[in-house]
Amino acid sequence: MSKRNLLKHIIAVGGTKSEQDILFDFLDASEEEIPIMLEELVNDDFLKVEYDFGQKIYKVSTERIEVSYSAVNMFRQCELKYYFAKVAKIQKPFGFPLYTGIVIHDALEKYKKGRLLEVLGKSDETQITSKELEALIYHMWRVQEERMSPEMLDGSRFENEVEITRRLFVNYVHMHGDDFDPIEIEKWYDVPVINPYNDEPKNWHLRGKIDFELVKGKKIGDYKTSSGKKTQDWVDFETQPGFYALLLGVKNLEFVYEILNKKAKTPKAMFQRLTTYVDEQKVFQAYRMIEDFVNRALTGNCAWLPSRGEHCNYMCSYKEECIRW
Ligand code: SF4
Repeated sequence: MSKRNLLKHIIAVGGTKSEQDILFDFLDASEEEIPIMLEELVNDDFLKVEYDFGQKIYKVSTERIEVSYSAVNMFRQCELKYYFAKVAKIQKPFGFPLYTGIVIHDALEKYKKGRLLEVLGKSDETQITSKELEALIYHMWRVQEERMSPEMLDGSRFENEVEITRRLFVNYVHMHGDDFDPIEIEKWYDVPVINPYNDEPKNWHLRGKIDFELVKGKKIGDYKTSSGKKTQDWVDFETQPGFYALLLGVKNLEFVYEILNKKAKTPKAMFQRLTTYVDEQKVFQAYRMIEDFVNRALTGNCAWLPSRGEHCNYMCSYKEECIRW
């Protein structure tokens, strides 16, 4: 990284992390160099800078633009859905798929962190019975019940969802191998995006959560609940791993999907593990998606057009608004 880019990176991290002005007079550069470099940065609209030559103090602030994979992905799937959810801020109650995801994530987090062994007073996983796993799932659903409407709680759909979740979790625990030993679980990141084409930091902040990390900065993964079995092709075409590579600031990353498959009507549950690799192409693709999102969604510079697709059929909660649009 050039000295100029390094400076820009330091400012981006400092400025965006503090979310306010930062003061510094520490740079390993001559007194003449710093104002020149800062002026250059100001010229490309990246930063607002005021400096006091006498005091040798530079006051810098960055404009913080927050980006998350879910927002970018929603915009990419359907601009109109993004508009209803994030611009018009029309709130919708959670549906069953979201509750299922919350319950499974919570249960897996407890399980992976070894808290389950602690809670149940066991020394190793082989001693845990299916009944104890079931009890954990029922407990998780009870926590969520408080947020649900009476209509959701009343009826066979609710019983079915609880049963599916129970089977998913029990299968997962019984099928996952001893080789699977994460060093981090549910880790939050909030980092400035670096343009992979020229290594320059942007003032966009990518925020996200990594479900688990297996080898530091090299092998990470994600839990997915899905209504059908996934293929290797599907995983290889996924864009999400590229976002994680940008989050971690790496270009080569092994990415593991732990997929819990449920069939909605008959509560069969399966567990799949698929791996994919993040190469430069995926990182570039993720970057371009973010760039498009910042340039169009965040400036309102788009037509908010509906893009009818598979997702319309079963899970769009904005159907009514869409029909009236
Ligand atoms: S129903 Fe389909 S086209 Fe309409 S907002 Fe939802 S996802 Fe978009």
